[in-house]
Amino acid sequence: MIRLSDYAGISPKSDLQLISRLAERLSSKRFLHINSTKSGGGVAEILSRMTPLLSGLGLNVRWEVIRGDQRFFTITKKIHNSLQGLPEDFTDDMWGYHSAINEENAKTLDLDADVTFVHDPQPVPLIRFRHGGLWIWRCHIDVSNPVESVWDRVSAYAGKYDAAIFSVAKFAKRMPIDEFIITPTIDPLSEKNRDLTGPEVDEVAARFKIPRDKPILLQVSRFDRFKDPNGVIRAYRMVKKYNDCRLVLAGSSATDDPEGDAVTEEVKGFADGDPDIHILLLPTFSDRDINALQRMAAVVLQKSLKEGFGLTVTEAMWKGRPVIGGNVGGIPTQIINGINGFLVNSEEGAAFRVRQILNNHDMAKSIGENARQYVRNHFLITRQIRDYLFVWYAMLNKGSAVMEL
Ligand code: UDP
Repeated sequence: MIRLSDYAGISPKSDLQLISRLAERLSSKRFLHINSTKSGGGVAEILSRMTPLLSGLGLNVRWEVIRGDQRFFTITKKIHNSLQGLPEDFTDDMWGYHSAINEENAKTLDLDADVTFVHDPQPVPLIRFRHGGLWIWRCHIDVSNPVESVWDRVSAYAGKYDAAIFSVAKFAKRMPIDEFIITPTIDPLSEKNRDLTGPEVDEVAARFKIPRDKPILLQVSRFDRFKDPNGVIRAYRMVKKYNDCRLVLAGSSATDDPEGDAVTEEVKGFADGDPDIHILLLPTFSDRDINALQRMAAVVLQKSLKEGFGLTVTEAMWKGRPVIGGNVGGIPTQIINGINGFLVNSEEGAAFRVRQILNNHDMAKSIGENARQYVRNHFLITRQIRDYLFVWYAMLNKGSAVMEL
């Protein structure tokens, strides 16, 4: 059982107070989240923590999942890709199937709620079957530069909602309905982010055969070219001429990415047997190992060339690490250059910042402290819950001139 009080002393007190107050105000209302999976991915992870927390606060919250077959999910994956700008082939039949599967789900799902929160494009057609209450579309992906014909289809549904929520302002699309920006967050009490003891971190280092004899540079990422693993290796080589160090590249080749294995092989080849480069292929459930790797690193890199929000940045900042991030996607929303981390636009820039951090312990420490504080104030799950409750409350009170809390 997760309780709000578990976050006391971790999350900002004002967020916890506001959540309690909003929960009191909303206690008579029924809320419903709908997405397309109970496990896997950030959306399910957040919902699995958020739903019991809100129930514990006396809110009537349900979480339903739409069901579909392989054909449905192949179509929705193509929709997902095209909304992020990758052209895919579509036929009218495919759009018909997307709608028909949602229609079947609408017959079995209990859609009775005061506020219904529909996540991402898979269940977006459910709006056709609304029979009351407010409906909000929560878009977790970057739709700023979509294949227009696909956005037209999706927005024909999304535009019928009462409001839309996007993760970062620059990922949003102008829509004829109310729009809100709510960034993703991490859960400080999850296995990936909870505090670890020294021996727990040491055990992971020993298991992965990473000696702790010199500073460790780390990037945790799917093996994907947009995460620029070879660029990280080049930056490490520039650093290595002056500062002895190790590089750990930890990740998996995502199962839904056919290029993953090829990129992994490419990176291994590029590392060229360097004994100070550790390429770790992590199985799916490696949260505690990722937590420990982030805690043992002297510098964390996320040198992406294209990025969503970049949760690995948030995770490492929360652990007080100095993070060097590519100046793309949601990374500049998190890193204030030179204050709580560094933003870079090149391999040379990354190498320069790594050396600066390795050569200046006091600066590294203060950057790391600022990073943790920034995440505490902006990117913990309690802030996301606060914002969701606030949007629900604001939408339900839209008619009133003054909103009292
Ligand atoms: N992650 C993981 N295993 C891996 C690589 C990454 O569990 O092998 C996690 C990582 O800790 C983070 C998430 O997957 O929580 C990646 O999110 P991010 O926004 O950084 O990038 P994405 O993979 O969504 O592009």
